Amino acid sequence: MSTPPKVGFLGLGIMGAQMAARLVRTGANVTVYNRSVAKTEPLRALGASVASTPAEVTRQCDLVFAMLADPRAACAVATDGPDAAVAGIAARPATAAPITYVDCSTVDAATGTFVGDAVQAAMRETAAGDAGGGFLAAPVSGGWRDCRDGTLLFLCGGSSTAYEAACVPHGLDAMGHKRWLFGPTPGDAARAKLMLQVMMGNIVGSLAEMMALTKASGLDEGAILDVLSHSAMGNHLCTAKGALMREGNFSPNFQVYLQQKDLRLALQLADDLGVPAPISAAANGQYIRARQMGLANADFAAVRAAYEAEAVADKESETEELN
Ligand code: NAP
Repeated sequence: MSTPPKVGFLGLGIMGAQMAARLVRTGANVTVYNRSVAKTEPLRALGASVASTPAEVTRQCDLVFAMLADPRAACAVATDGPDAAVAGIAARPATAAPITYVDCSTVDAATGTFVGDAVQAAMRETAAGDAGGGFLAAPVSGGWRDCRDGTLLFLCGGSSTAYEAACVPHGLDAMGHKRWLFGPTPGDAARAKLMLQVMMGNIVGSLAEMMALTKASGLDEGAILDVLSHSAMGNHLCTAKGALMREGNFSPNFQVYLQQKDLRLALQLADDLGVPAPISAAANGQYIRARQMGLANADFAAVRAAYEAEAVADKESETEELN
């Protein structure tokens, strides 16, 4: 019987926990790391090994995935200090194969390039060098249920060598059912993923605006959502998030702080390219407002509250004027 492949996973948030569990279920020999240790326990119970630093993971595993919140987290785990992933890569035994490091976090092009260059530099310090494997940016589309069911969409950027090393039965093939290689650099993947996040943030922002107006107009929210679902504007996202907005159920699937981060990164890209993005800028303002209201860790459907707050604030100032 062949030895199961050694796969590492860094970051066990809402997405990472389900992706790592999926890899364990495919029969891979999985070692996980998470900054908050408590989140490693369910994975240990499933049969994964638990490492106390990212370096411990990259020293032992030939294929390592990272699924971290944002640019700061992706850089910290990959490059900050002697416990970081690149330190573990540089310390790999002389007999080890070249590592493949796959960052699935949604970040900007500069972060992908920075982490990718650091990984490749650390690989060159090892006996195996960088003659195989390498760095792949592979942000995803899909939610935690897709992580659990292996139906994620991967938007990849990197060398064909790294891509091929990641597209294996205990890698991307276990976690996703469709994938695209957008180009040879991490930035190609980062930009592609931000295109989707512009759409998602703006659609859910528009939906929240419609719901606030529906309520203020005294219309039946359920009936309006029903019409929407049968109209040309109906889609799965509006049906799911509309129901959550109506119920006021904001337990997190994709958190407000992450959608706001994605719009911020997309607006930086638009600025760099000189492309006007006024709709994204307006939506971003509402996600910032939701963060200020203490909703950073609520599901991003909670952006509805930012519109309700606006309606209430206006009424209050009207009352003051009358007085
Ligand atoms: P999450 O639940 O908030 O998890 C974030 C992860 O990042 C946790 O493991 C967290 O560790 C870690 N982290 C944050 N800051 C860190 C730091 N400074 N140093 C080390 N680790 C740090 O987020 P998520 O929903 O899993 O999303 C992960 C990524 O996938 C994000 O880039 C997001 O935009 C993207 N994404 C999410 C979804 C979704 O539906 N949720 C869908 C597609 C893409 P702790 O546990 O210690 O805080």
